[in-house]
Amino acid sequence: MLAEIIAVGSEMLTPHRQDTNSLFLTAGLNDLGVTVAFKTIVGDNRQHLRSAIHTAIRRADIVLLSGGLGPTEDDLTRECLAETLRLSLHRNEAVLEFLQKRFAARNMEMPANNAKQADQIEGAEILPNLNGSAPGQWLDFAHHGHRKLVALLPGPPKELQPLFDSECKPRLAAALPPYYLARRQLRMALIPESLVDARTAPIYNQFPDVQTTILAGSGEIQLHFVCVKHTLAAAEARVEAVADAVAREMGDDIFSLSGESLEEVVLLMLGVRRRTLAVAESCTGGLLGQRLTSIPGSSRVFLGGAIAYSDRSKTALADVPSYLIDEHGAVSDTVARALAEGIRRRTGSSLALGITGIAGPTAPRGLDANKPVGLVYIALTDGEDTQVKEFLIPGDRDRIRLWSTQHALEMLRRSLQ
Ligand code: ATP
Ligand code: MG
Repeated sequence: MLAEIIAVGSEMLTPHRQDTNSLFLTAGLNDLGVTVAFKTIVGDNRQHLRSAIHTAIRRADIVLLSGGLGPTEDDLTRECLAETLRLSLHRNEAVLEFLQKRFAARNMEMPANNAKQADQIEGAEILPNLNGSAPGQWLDFAHHGHRKLVALLPGPPKELQPLFDSECKPRLAAALPPYYLARRQLRMALIPESLVDARTAPIYNQFPDVQTTILAGSGEIQLHFVCVKHTLAAAEARVEAVADAVAREMGDDIFSLSGESLEEVVLLMLGVRRRTLAVAESCTGGLLGQRLTSIPGSSRVFLGGAIAYSDRSKTALADVPSYLIDEHGAVSDTVARALAEGIRRRTGSSLALGITGIAGPTAPRGLDANKPVGLVYIALTDGEDTQVKEFLIPGDRDRIRLWSTQHALEMLRRSLQ
């Protein structure tokens, strides 16, 4: 079964408003094993709306429309759907009464315009809207011998979401053949998407029944696998098999086999190995600490650290000897090493990370003046050994800072593996 979502509203064709209803509806449809084949955004224009509806009904089995059910002149969805399907509209007295009571409860007289929200399309079921005025409508009909399911839903997300969950999902589930859905998510850090794709694409050929999606961004690759079958065991076996094959191919480049974030994985590994961690951050300004502490329970292994941003605070907070900074520059492998070793001694942690780099966009001064923007040194120490790595991270300030934390977490993960 293929679905199309139509978001109605001219405001979503401006740079100021985005259609988010279709994201919510897509997640709901996917949960039911339905693929969204098309999404359309159309303005409050009778001709355009009719054309969008006409096209959708022809090419999709399920059509969900959101918005344009209000009382104003430019709310046209109900009328246009009726016109396109050559169905009549008639006023539903019970809905009219509900609307009048809603206004009366607020000590208001219902404006005449609102009455059109009680117009019901011939053959449609009314879907009560407990969070607003315009009810939804549900149509289940045959079109040139094919069954079509169409829902009209109110635009405001606070009205649409509960209405879809309580009224549309059960109707869709009853209309769809029985199915079960299994999902898996694998995650990798800091490898190019094209490389992952080249190595995994041959595997996917053996799994035409598994839907695979690759998502890349923020120094991370996610592989999503979804399979729909008539039994849960069959669906799970297929996603399991594809995940196993990809895991064999990508080896320990994979940091998560079930969707956890990199910081979660690192905290988990520290806990299992009974290690604690501290950080001394210069160019990342606390971003690494922020990522680690965003995970509940991180205090069991993450002790804290310092934002050692200025030269003086590197000395004051992490005991970096000032002569090292004067000799090598604040952005150097020596200072990264001293940050990690200093903060480990200060906090008494078993492991520590030190980060120093040039986030840009302006060139640094003094001894670092000739070093390029994006140059970052990361040190990891356990008190006996300290490893320092040099990175040249392309991009703007935000990207350099985020990727620095990603590299630091990945260094730590690999050392704990
Ligand atoms: P109302 O009775 O409130 O007029 P309606 O069904 O006519 O409801 P619209 O007028 O189209 O809905 O939209 C009302 C508000 O809902 C919009 O201002 C917008 O904030 C939000 N909205 C509409 N469509 C979407 C969408 N696709 N995604 C996110 N928000 C939306
Ligand atoms: Mg409206």
